[in-house]
Amino acid sequence: MSEYLNHAEILNRCEKINQNYEVDPAFFDSIIDELLDSDFDTEEVILKGFKRLLKEVDFEIDRMEQHAGMKPNCFIGCAFCCYFPIIITKMEAKMMLKEIEHFPKDRKQKIYQHWERYFAEHQTKLDTALNIDFNEEDAKLTYKQLDLPCPMLDPETNTCMAYEIRPIPCRTYLNYANPKVCAENHMPKEPFSYEFLYDYYMGAMNEIMQALYENGEELFVDYPSDVWSQDYLPAWLKRRNEEGDEAL
Ligand code: SF4
Repeated sequence: MSEYLNHAEILNRCEKINQNYEVDPAFFDSIIDELLDSDFDTEEVILKGFKRLLKEVDFEIDRMEQHAGMKPNCFIGCAFCCYFPIIITKMEAKMMLKEIEHFPKDRKQKIYQHWERYFAEHQTKLDTALNIDFNEEDAKLTYKQLDLPCPMLDPETNTCMAYEIRPIPCRTYLNYANPKVCAENHMPKEPFSYEFLYDYYMGAMNEIMQALYENGEELFVDYPSDVWSQDYLPAWLKRRNEEGDEAL
């Protein structure tokens, strides 16, 4: 018997999640309360909140998988989903970049050097990709067909260079079927997306920012406008690569 679920079985189990699993917002709320009551400085509150809320999305997916009795077949070095368009807010881009600034020197340098090569090598495809209107119906497929890797994807290991701070779409897209469906199709139908968890993560992140803002703290994001500004991840990183840390 195949160890992989087929599409119909995946739909059945996801229906089980839809029908009788409820996300408990208390997991997200407790992170907000704990950090706002802490003695951490403003930047620490933001960055710890960012990382803990991202991780909480992983935990929530684990809980749902246990409920539905399924485990993803995604594995290290399989990165077909790293060719999808990843759209994030300016606030998230700034938090990612700030985290990368705090990476150990060698790790950070490797990323910055990779971006130098990446943005030169993929200039033509990027010109096309970053001009695709991500609100258009076919935007995802059009982008994926360009075969443009994410700028965070390490070409030597085929792994994410900022795995612990990878954005929500990279965490919430999981394949419970045979991994070959991702290799053989631009838009495989089998993978399941828990993208609805974005609202819990972003709602909590927004609450943290709003509380700090109303308290008159100095923020490294422009609140609230950065929450509403969205673009492709490569577009934000391209700006950073061309103009340095103050680019955004
Ligand atoms: S941020 Fe990381 S996990 Fe997400 S698409 Fe890019 S390389 Fe892949």
